[in-house]
Amino acid sequence: MTTNEIPYKIYLTEDEMPKSWYNMRADMKNKPAPLIHPGTHQPLKLEELTPIFCEELCKQELNDSDAHIAIPEPIRQFYRMYRPSPLVRAYCLEERLNTPAHIYYKFEGNNTSGSHKLNSAIAQAYYAKQQGLKGVTTETGAGQWGTALSMASAYFGLDCQVYMVKCSYEQKPFRREVMRTYGATVTPSPSNTTAIGRKILEQFPDTTGSLGCAISEAVEKATSQEGYRYVLGSVLNMVLLHQSVIGQETMAACDKYGIVPDIIIGCAGGGSNLGGLIAPFMGRKLRGEADYRIIAIEPASCPSFTRGKFLYDFCDTGHVCPLAKMYTLGSEFIPSANHAGGLRYHGMSSTLSQLYADGLIEARAVEQSAVFKAATEFARCEGILPAPESSHAIKAAIDEAIKCKESGEAKNIIFGLTGTGYFDMTAYKAYNDGTMSDYIPTDADLERGFSHIPQFPGNTIN
Ligand SMILES: *Cc1c(COP(=O)(O)O)cnc(C)c1O
Repeated sequence: MTTNEIPYKIYLTEDEMPKSWYNMRADMKNKPAPLIHPGTHQPLKLEELTPIFCEELCKQELNDSDAHIAIPEPIRQFYRMYRPSPLVRAYCLEERLNTPAHIYYKFEGNNTSGSHKLNSAIAQAYYAKQQGLKGVTTETGAGQWGTALSMASAYFGLDCQVYMVKCSYEQKPFRREVMRTYGATVTPSPSNTTAIGRKILEQFPDTTGSLGCAISEAVEKATSQEGYRYVLGSVLNMVLLHQSVIGQETMAACDKYGIVPDIIIGCAGGGSNLGGLIAPFMGRKLRGEADYRIIAIEPASCPSFTRGKFLYDFCDTGHVCPLAKMYTLGSEFIPSANHAGGLRYHGMSSTLSQLYADGLIEARAVEQSAVFKAATEFARCEGILPAPESSHAIKAAIDEAIKCKESGEAKNIIFGLTGTGYFDMTAYKAYNDGTMSDYIPTDADLERGFSHIPQFPGNTIN
């Protein structure tokens, strides 16, 4: 196909939106390792997962064989309110960088949650409602996931209880109010509303909280209330599955205009946006139909891919969740206090971990001051104020575009612009004031985290 003139924003029609989610695992030769029981180390069966998660979501979590799973019509209906999202040609950024590269970004920030997280929140709320549940519990760090779930819960008339990492709760009072406006209850974590929260507070009275700790509280709260289940906004296979709408729309937009990506870049916290963005492209790669360079970008202060261990580990600080095999820094790892840019989870999606171990994706760690520099450069020419998380991908896309300038290659670079940064102005302020610093954990810092990874036959550090 000859390329049409490529518009600034490539929009698909509602009809061109995906009708099913794409499950990468079906095409993976080496399947991601299953979740296992922390006591017996046996793979978890459906009936062991259903007391924690909604039944249909457990089935999706365990499904390694169906490549396509139909998106229920009520979910598509909701998607239509804010999707399809545009694939934007970053003409202004290209001009600013004076690069021959063609840069595109898939923009997921055009909804109130300000991120891609709504794509999975609405699916999870739907299945909870279908099952006749009263409500859901969850944790939130920066707040986008809690907001997305509050919106989705309000839409389906579910109660929503959010444990918000204490330092975010204090730093982002407006995030909290958005969630409360959608009807959610927001509790700073650790709290004295759960046994695990009380225990953590007793041990570490001054802690500002962590995602791992908030997860433990939310799980305890779900399993101790009749008619409630726990939902998670990243890391799990089911979340990557829902996020595949991002990649499928991106691929449809590329195919429509004859764009063949050379490099696909995404930021990686727990791996859901990256897993979703790359899904159909990875499918082609796994089936030998095409090849792409795929790069995961993580913070140098929380470097699970680039410096973590590929082992079974706890998903949460309180150790109430199953063990997952993933690149991990240890469930007690907490990024240094000066880290501002999100992406602070200690582990990584087991699907992406397996793809990384198999050499199918690359990973790179970047320092936060360089990330905010890229964010600022992007905001000033493309207009959008990016989320710090998304800006990790911007930084890498700019670096790749500069390499193209040096080599004279007109590569097609696509990155995921996962959201907007309106609630991250404390971090932007530190950058603007020149007080932002970089802290890269030392090997000794990381060893402390690794020392909490459970050791058992087949799961040893050395
Ligand atoms: C949550 C979030 C991320 C990181 O989570 P993943 O599961 O790795 O995608 C990235 N960007 C934004 C805007 C987020 O809200």
